[in-house]
Amino acid sequence: MQRATKIVATIGPASSDVDTLTRMFKAGVDVVRLNFSHGKAQDHIDRATMVREVAASCGKQVAIMADLQGPKIRIGKFEHGKIQLEKGDKFILDADCQMGNQDRIGLDYKPLPRDLLGDDVLLLNDGLIVLVVEKIIGNEIFTVVKIGGELSNNKGINRQGGGLTAPALTSKDMDDIKTAMSFKADFVAVSFPKNATDMEMARQLCNVAGEAYNHKPMMIAKIERAEAIPLLQQILDASDGIMVARGDLAVEVGNAAVPALQKRMIKMARASNKLAITATQMMESMIVNAVPTRAEVSDVANAVLDGTDAVMTSAETASGKYPVETVEAMSAICLEAEKSEDCQLDTDFLNVTFTRVDQSIAYGALFTAHHLRVKAIAAMTESGSTALWMSRHSIDIPIFAITPSVSTQRQVALYRNVRAFELAKSTDREAVLKAAQDMLLAKGVVKRGDLVVVTWGEPMGQVGGTNALKIMKIGEY
Ligand code: PGA
Ligand code: MN
Repeated sequence: MQRATKIVATIGPASSDVDTLTRMFKAGVDVVRLNFSHGKAQDHIDRATMVREVAASCGKQVAIMADLQGPKIRIGKFEHGKIQLEKGDKFILDADCQMGNQDRIGLDYKPLPRDLLGDDVLLLNDGLIVLVVEKIIGNEIFTVVKIGGELSNNKGINRQGGGLTAPALTSKDMDDIKTAMSFKADFVAVSFPKNATDMEMARQLCNVAGEAYNHKPMMIAKIERAEAIPLLQQILDASDGIMVARGDLAVEVGNAAVPALQKRMIKMARASNKLAITATQMMESMIVNAVPTRAEVSDVANAVLDGTDAVMTSAETASGKYPVETVEAMSAICLEAEKSEDCQLDTDFLNVTFTRVDQSIAYGALFTAHHLRVKAIAAMTESGSTALWMSRHSIDIPIFAITPSVSTQRQVALYRNVRAFELAKSTDREAVLKAAQDMLLAKGVVKRGDLVVVTWGEPMGQVGGTNALKIMKIGEY
């Protein structure tokens, strides 16, 4: 049985050598995430080169997702690297402070004092430290510590309830987009988008920077701001997918609200024909342990049941002790969860309304495949859109995107229940169908006598326009 749910693995110091990466890819990584919050441009270029080489040596397509840092607001540095805050202490966030101490700390986002009011609650270091704003005078934010702890250099700041005005794309992001396009990142994840306009702007910057490389990435909106929630539909419409970015989101909306939001977001993404990635702390304890906790196992399995396209690792594979074991464990959990009834078939495509011919073929293929109990669905596709429509609905039959396009092969690496095979472009229909049949046989996904639903566009060899469906008996060519 082939795993339907995909695995996105963040790579970093713990996973940037050929041997570890090879073992991670063999264990099941589908997409590599390069986190632009850390490292220099050259580090990412080197890692991207290594990913492409290792993927080629493993004989699989692995996509690259460039995750932009975005306007994460951070405190500055302390004289001695860190301080200890106790409940009731007074502490000042000072936009003019150069070097922090026990009383005050600097800010990388100078306008922050203008965004805040008395009684606002600030969460530092992913919510581990809580400060309540007393008053603001000029560039100084006077606070009282509500929950104390150790505070070290450059920790992030969120406001409970959201509403900080920092623009979504920083000048660093704009430079990083150019770097990411130079190695044709298949996906670009935008951090902290507030609305659809942020995503449209990011897409435009990517497309302009990608022009020289004849490349257009898919755009992923990281949903991690409170104000993005009511605008989710517009953000989805402007994106190719979303990431349920539970780390920052939990800080802004309160962690208890996140599980229900995760379910809603994934549902909305699928209904909008967009992708969904579930991220952050999925296997957190595997940063130091060789096995996950029971709660982590349940979390990954529940994301699969929610219908996520992919589950993601962060520090587990970037800087943890067990990057390979993490991927192995995730893969096993996904496979097991997919056996559940909830993952076998949903019939909601019966109620979808559409006017496009290609979309109608995609749903027709699902319907036919389900009722005839075929072994596979093969979509001959340039752009991958037929496979995307099909994959928005659960079916216990694997979907294969057969395409000449390398970038489509990589992008479908993120689509739930879709695998890509490469087949050269041709205008000869009979030759293409025979080649597709031979490929499915050679890959061992079907045997002679099996039925397969095949979709394609005629005339062949053009982009778009899927308008044909055939129920093919393997061996008839
Ligand atoms: P990050 O985003 O890892 O870049 O912070 C994910 C999250 O906030 O969950
Ligand atoms: Mn985040």
